[in-house]
Amino acid sequence: MKKRILTGDRPTGKLHLGHYVGSLANRVKLQEEYQSYIIIADVQALTTNFENPENLSRDTFQIAEDYLAAGLDPEISTIFIQSMIPEIHELTMYYSMFTSVNVLRHNPTVKTEAQQHGFSDMTYGFLGYPVSQAADISIFKANLVPVGDDQIPHIELARKIVRRFNDLYKPVLIEPEALIGEVPRLMGLDGKAKMSKSLNNAIYLSDSASEVESKVKDAVTDPARIRKTDLGHPEICTVYGYHQVFNRSEMEEIEHACRNGEIGCVQCKKKLAGCLNKLLEPMRERRIKYENQPELVKDILEEGSRKARLTAQETMREVRDAMRINYFAATE
Ligand code: SF4
Repeated sequence: MKKRILTGDRPTGKLHLGHYVGSLANRVKLQEEYQSYIIIADVQALTTNFENPENLSRDTFQIAEDYLAAGLDPEISTIFIQSMIPEIHELTMYYSMFTSVNVLRHNPTVKTEAQQHGFSDMTYGFLGYPVSQAADISIFKANLVPVGDDQIPHIELARKIVRRFNDLYKPVLIEPEALIGEVPRLMGLDGKAKMSKSLNNAIYLSDSASEVESKVKDAVTDPARIRKTDLGHPEICTVYGYHQVFNRSEMEEIEHACRNGEIGCVQCKKKLAGCLNKLLEPMRERRIKYENQPELVKDILEEGSRKARLTAQETMREVRDAMRINYFAATE
């Protein structure tokens, strides 16, 4: 039996290269080795965007298209929508009964995110989203959850919640473990902050070749370089940061040429745009099929949600048995 992983995203818009190197590329690799459940966490997206639910459907289909274009294979990965699995919300409610409010308030990731969103008074849903995440993971009996460092407190909490459930009732759930990979940090094209839609500094997986070229052309470089012969400082250049991630075979040569004034920024950017387009081209080719037949994406999500729900229902039968609230089990 392959081990199971649970991973996914909140649908908040198109995916960009930061998402790709941060998690998506890894998921595409992991799906061969693990039984993969990929959650599109639409309910969790509402924790910060509850005033705009009308965008959820568009963003959910967009993210699914990005997943499929990036190489997630619906034949081996179960891609599903969180709100289509009502059992997750039921399990979240049971977990909420024994999860302390103080533990949630002191969760460092919740605190940081609340500050980022300017929440002086957190909603019940926002404060409790790590509990919902614990339910997302444990209802599918995931052994591993691929995460970045900032998500470790959530996995720790999920482990504690599962342990508490197993101790209180019956050991039917699996304590998940974090699968921590090396995640390269990708700055936005402006070189100021990480890539993000809201900062308008991102290259999207769905960008055309000419959009990539034009965005890279405008990327921030070492301001000291005016002429090709000026000695450069690649360590402060956004473009060089991208070469380190996407063009590793040439990065040493580029660093040397930049420091010694032997390569111009225009040429260096052209090289980078070429590398990025080489990476994105197979995604563009895969995407055409889904763009031309949007009902295919819908079918994949519907089937993934159906399969995921069967697994969730099986776990919930065990959960209700363990809690002795499976009232009609004998007559089913
Ligand atoms: S040559 Fe390349 S690495 Fe050097 S400053 Fe220009 S863009 Fe950056």
